[in-house]
Amino acid sequence: MSVHEGVPAFPAATILGYPRIGPRRELKRAVESFWAGRSTAPELSAVAGDLRERTRTNLAGLGLGTDDASIPSDFTFYDQVLSVAAHLGAIPERFAHLRGPDGALDLAGLFTVARGEGDRAPLEMTKWFDSNYHYLVPEIGPDTEFRLVETPSVEAFATALADGVVTRPVIVGPVTFLLLAKPSESAPEGFSPLSRLDDLLVAYAEWLRAFAEAGATWVQLDEPALVSDTWAEPSAQVSAAVGRAYQALSVDLARPDRPALFVATPYGPLGERFADLAATGVEAIGLDLVRGEAPAIDDAVRTALAGRTVVAGVVDGHNIWRTDLDAATASVAALRAALGGDVDVAVSTSTSLFHVPHTTSDEPDLPQRLLSWLAFADEKVGEVLALAAGPDAAGEAFARSREVAADRAGAPGVVVPEVRSRAAGLTEADFHRSAYDARVAAQDAVLDLPPLPTTTIGSFPQTSELRVARASLRKGEITAEQYAEAMRAEIAHVIELQEKLGLDVLVHGEPERNDMVQYFAENLDGFAVTQNGWVQSYGSRCTRPSILWGDVSRPAPITVDWSRHAASLTSHPVKGMLTGPVTILAWSFVRDDQPLADTANQVALALRDEIADLEAAGIGVVQVDEPALRELLPLRRAAQSAYLDWSVASFRLATAGAADATQIHTHLCYSEFGEVIGAIDGLDADVTSIEAARSKMEILPDINSSGFARGIGPGVYDIHSPRVPSTAEITDLLTAALASVGERKLWVNPDCGLKTRGYPETVASLENLVAATRSVRERL
Ligand code: GLN
Ligand code: ZN
Repeated sequence: MSVHEGVPAFPAATILGYPRIGPRRELKRAVESFWAGRSTAPELSAVAGDLRERTRTNLAGLGLGTDDASIPSDFTFYDQVLSVAAHLGAIPERFAHLRGPDGALDLAGLFTVARGEGDRAPLEMTKWFDSNYHYLVPEIGPDTEFRLVETPSVEAFATALADGVVTRPVIVGPVTFLLLAKPSESAPEGFSPLSRLDDLLVAYAEWLRAFAEAGATWVQLDEPALVSDTWAEPSAQVSAAVGRAYQALSVDLARPDRPALFVATPYGPLGERFADLAATGVEAIGLDLVRGEAPAIDDAVRTALAGRTVVAGVVDGHNIWRTDLDAATASVAALRAALGGDVDVAVSTSTSLFHVPHTTSDEPDLPQRLLSWLAFADEKVGEVLALAAGPDAAGEAFARSREVAADRAGAPGVVVPEVRSRAAGLTEADFHRSAYDARVAAQDAVLDLPPLPTTTIGSFPQTSELRVARASLRKGEITAEQYAEAMRAEIAHVIELQEKLGLDVLVHGEPERNDMVQYFAENLDGFAVTQNGWVQSYGSRCTRPSILWGDVSRPAPITVDWSRHAASLTSHPVKGMLTGPVTILAWSFVRDDQPLADTANQVALALRDEIADLEAAGIGVVQVDEPALRELLPLRRAAQSAYLDWSVASFRLATAGAADATQIHTHLCYSEFGEVIGAIDGLDADVTSIEAARSKMEILPDINSSGFARGIGPGVYDIHSPRVPSTAEITDLLTAALASVGERKLWVNPDCGLKTRGYPETVASLENLVAATRSVRERL
């Protein structure tokens, strides 16, 4: 008898996951009110339980079956990776005191691990694949204990079942969990968390048993790590880990002691890992067919997969455009043909839908025509159902999809001839400035800066007065002119403060910006912004990505009045402040009907015009922020250089129109400089500020050995915490930086913008920054 006999059928249509935060960010509000002490743990749990119930009722109402595991159950209070660590008791030693007698964390304990407490640092947070979501990095050592210590996921399943809904629990798979982990503090040099796989599998087996006992028919294990080849571990080792993990969980742990297993591999083409998975006994394998081609399928794979299911992820879980249902049907058909008649094919989204907002029906202010092109989470459910039903049964949905494609292609603003012809006329020269030496001479002549110039990254604290003013403007309680007056007053205050502090290159403080991308989206043609289009960024934090739907152009100058006003108040240079093309793309939902490179160049040209207008207004220093440059780096090495080529080119296109005497700065929010040093050098900015304080300037040798020859401002203090760095501490960092990069290149600045900080610590920290700089200058 085949191992797959008696396996419940995989649903014909499903989604890999659903937004967890609630249509009105209910979970965010409930969690934050718990943190503030305004509600109790049982109250928070009740809100979460309600939300889960509403989600499954909604999904059932949209047509996902209630008795066939097509509704995913992927709830987490904070993060899905942290949830695995909490279930399995894999919590760092420094939080051991938070664990109860059974080893479990209570809700307060869970949040403490996520957010830190006193000098107990929280788990590090980092980007989840190539999305804007951030997960918490597990810390795993040789002695980390793996044991199923708590089972909220199983209880959630049981509650739904009692309600008559057979959900499909979704958990991060063991290989991805370990590849995303970092060695614990006490781990020996060179320790690889993946070496703990066998022990971890024992705990996963316990977890799967618990699901089976509760009545689960299918469990989804997310293994996005398999689509990437950028791990420190060699490919053969990852492949071996996949084999071992799923042998242990599917064959060694036989049904009915476990549910049927669906291994999903979102965010990219699975490539050679597909054969690895096919060789194990997992009952279903999910492919992301939006981001990549179907893997090679040979006879061995076909035979191995007989009686099992391949789940075709053909509805984009990561973007918001309606699916071309004909194209998706064709790609499912091609997969079906390649797999032969013995393998079932189901359809799903390419990734969890937690990267997109809940529903387009909650966007009264978006233009109807644009709205008709969009599919958020709920609408994507309709699309997977239509695909599973096929063009005959779901004729209306297919007809609609064709209409939308035609309408989009011909709608005004999608293709703007002037924008196209300008882009078509670009030549190599448009991407290059003069040689750096010539620029330095011209800049020195006009800027007259001391050695080790001090500056900030752009934003000053966003006070509640500023937010109230913005809300009042939106509600029509104050006029645009009153709002502008309030912003000008704030700018005056920020300029006065910087003069008093003794900073050298001043900023206007960005009071007028709600968000560094949305602000530009609101002021450029080709973009729209949503009302309720929130997506989770990390923990309780959400962002509202803008929608880049058409050809981008700049109807009028955006930042010039604010910068001019700031400059009129001081004799110091004022730095203009723009968000770069790559970051604008990375933090928006971007049109999918042309290459990203073309879209990036359109944004770049709009920024290029803005820089020209800033120059004309007398602004001699302009910063173009690119904190997301590294974020979009492809998950496969082979794709990285093409990405870096176009992304770096778009930055250069934005900035290369500047005069030699105009000093172009850029800011990158991270310190993994080595990885993309070539690209950072390629930006050709005159000054680059990066994060460095948290890593105690560890990056300086990298910068040095790279031969990076232009200005560099390694952040001297961490703005992510209210802690005020002492003058002595900053002096030490500067001394080290000076020895490493030299006087000619070194700039002095914090790690990042100050918008999330309060004024007291901002003023104290900047006072110490200036004092430290002065003392180091005296020794020059
Ligand atoms: N100029 C922006 C600021 O200071 C930069 C923020 C960022 O890089 N994330 O807020
Ligand atoms: Zn930053």
